[in-house]
Amino acid sequence: METFRTVTEELIALEDRYGAHNYHPLDVVLTRGEGIWVWDVDGNRYMDCLSAYSAVNQGHAHPRIRQALIDQASRLPLTSRAFRNDQLGRFYQQVCELTGYEMVLPMNTGAEAVETAIKAARKWGYTVKGVPDGQAEIIACAGNFAGRTVTIIGFSTEAQYRDGFGPFTPGFKVVPYGDAKALEAAITPNTVAFLVEPIQGEGGVIVPPAGYLRQVREICTRHNVLMIADEIQTGLGRTGKLFACDHEDVRPDAVTIGKALSGGFYPVSAVLANREVLGVFRPGDHGSTFGGNPLGAAVGQAALSVLVEENMIENAAAMGEYFQDMLAEINSPHVKEVRGKGLMIGVELKPEAGGARRFCEALQHNGILAKETHRDIIRFAPPLVITQADIDWAIERIRPVLLMD
Ligand SMILES: *Cc1c(COP(=O)(O)O)cnc(C)c1O
Repeated sequence: METFRTVTEELIALEDRYGAHNYHPLDVVLTRGEGIWVWDVDGNRYMDCLSAYSAVNQGHAHPRIRQALIDQASRLPLTSRAFRNDQLGRFYQQVCELTGYEMVLPMNTGAEAVETAIKAARKWGYTVKGVPDGQAEIIACAGNFAGRTVTIIGFSTEAQYRDGFGPFTPGFKVVPYGDAKALEAAITPNTVAFLVEPIQGEGGVIVPPAGYLRQVREICTRHNVLMIADEIQTGLGRTGKLFACDHEDVRPDAVTIGKALSGGFYPVSAVLANREVLGVFRPGDHGSTFGGNPLGAAVGQAALSVLVEENMIENAAAMGEYFQDMLAEINSPHVKEVRGKGLMIGVELKPEAGGARRFCEALQHNGILAKETHRDIIRFAPPLVITQADIDWAIERIRPVLLMD
């Protein structure tokens, strides 16, 4: 029998022994969360500056969302879409009234929402645009992240996401991110869609040049190409607007959302679009056993209500600006750039700083959980309920880490 000094060690050993090693997590074993805070099994408290990749924008274990989950779980968790349920219609109405789109198609994970958008765009291409059968092309961006299915990783430019997983789905092209001219040059008569993140999250909090999304909108309109914004990470308040595209007053033809759509309680994702696009689906064309289930629909309604009624989007705008200013003021010799929008913040370190991982480990020591993205970028993306006093508390702990040797 192996013996362990601590519960933490034992639980980590169990994960390592029985689980596939497809992640490299920080060695912190969490057991409880509330708002921006999480606690490990030893009772240490941390500020969560990752928010489960923006799935817990509303804060951990938000009481109103939790109650909606408990109530619905006690009544009727799942019907399948073979029957109707009394939550789905209201969820649809709320999503459409909030976002201004005519239709919604609910799924579970973000990757499924992207897959759904891809299918909608292709079918739109064949049935509305008149692209010859089997010829539809979709353009994506270098540095994209849209999930982990075989089709999606097929248009990834990250070698590790692809290596060993081919062959891939044909019909995708990749152009540089932030380069509207490159997009226009890549469009052919068979192009049905351009899939773009308004800010690349997993790509390293990459903010495109000002005006890019507007140019993309104009080019897509001119060539009759659907602009599909992947707002799974940037959407639902993260950047200080409902959607990151709102910063440029751009209205994509379709939007994918997920992550915070459930406040972290449950996987709920969706594609939003007008009737011309989502209307292409006929009964039997597409589906999901869990997509649109009553539990997800109830949780989604509460998650959206809380986001709006508790002014989290406005708070993200104000606190994001403050957090970014305070980070920039640290003036660390290791930092190349502090960037982002709202509470989607990236601190890019200089290559000679030795990588972001050691800084994230030092932050963990100081009570702040942040995760490196790529080698040199620390992401700060706390739940949108963070206050100025919380940020002051965090800066006192981030400063010595960014100033260490
Ligand atoms: C996380 C993410 C996805 C994939 O979501 P999953 O729920 O992990 O499948 C897709 N697009 C973007 C921009 C994301 O950040």
